[in-house]
Amino acid sequence: MADDVCPKCGSALGEITETSNGKKLRRCSAGVWDSRTKKTIGCDFVKWLPVEPQTLEEVCPKCGAPLLLVVTRFGKKMKKCSASGWDKVAKKATGCDYVEWINGTSKPLEETCPKCGAALVLYTTAAGKQMKKCSTSGWDRVAKKATGCDYIQWLKSSSSKLSPGEEFLPPFPEDA
Ligand SMILES: [Zn+2]
Ligand SMILES: [Zn+2]
Ligand SMILES: [Zn+2]
Repeated sequence: MADDVCPKCGSALGEITETSNGKKLRRCSAGVWDSRTKKTIGCDFVKWLPVEPQTLEEVCPKCGAPLLLVVTRFGKKMKKCSASGWDKVAKKATGCDYVEWINGTSKPLEETCPKCGAALVLYTTAAGKQMKKCSTSGWDRVAKKATGCDYIQWLKSSSSKLSPGEEFLPPFPEDA
């Protein structure tokens, strides 16, 4: 396969190696990376491999196609519809446009909400801020407003200031 041959020198490409941030690459077998001098000895061709999106067991709420888990080059995660594509000529998205940014994690707490008595969850934002919030709260993407109980208690360790209402902003793609 032509894919396995270095375009610079014609030698075979080496094994797939993975970098610390999850990217995959293949070096030319005629080159050796010298970690002491931080230079390549011999052929310096490196072939970066695309990070394969992972197919999830979830399906797209819009069209029913399987969702893919995609990691952006900034390390942010999103779920996107496998029926979506990119038209390189027209420079616009094609197919289904469903995208769900994975912005934080929540885990159930054994405390109850002082407002409504439902369980609280500990929510950690993508930026590492933590808050306790009511498990009945949600975000209505259509109406663009918060739903359910609005009880929120930011944990004191977060020193950064929040503008009012920031906690209810929907996930926002910073690098889309
Ligand atoms: Zn080479
Ligand atoms: Zn879809
Ligand atoms: Zn509540």
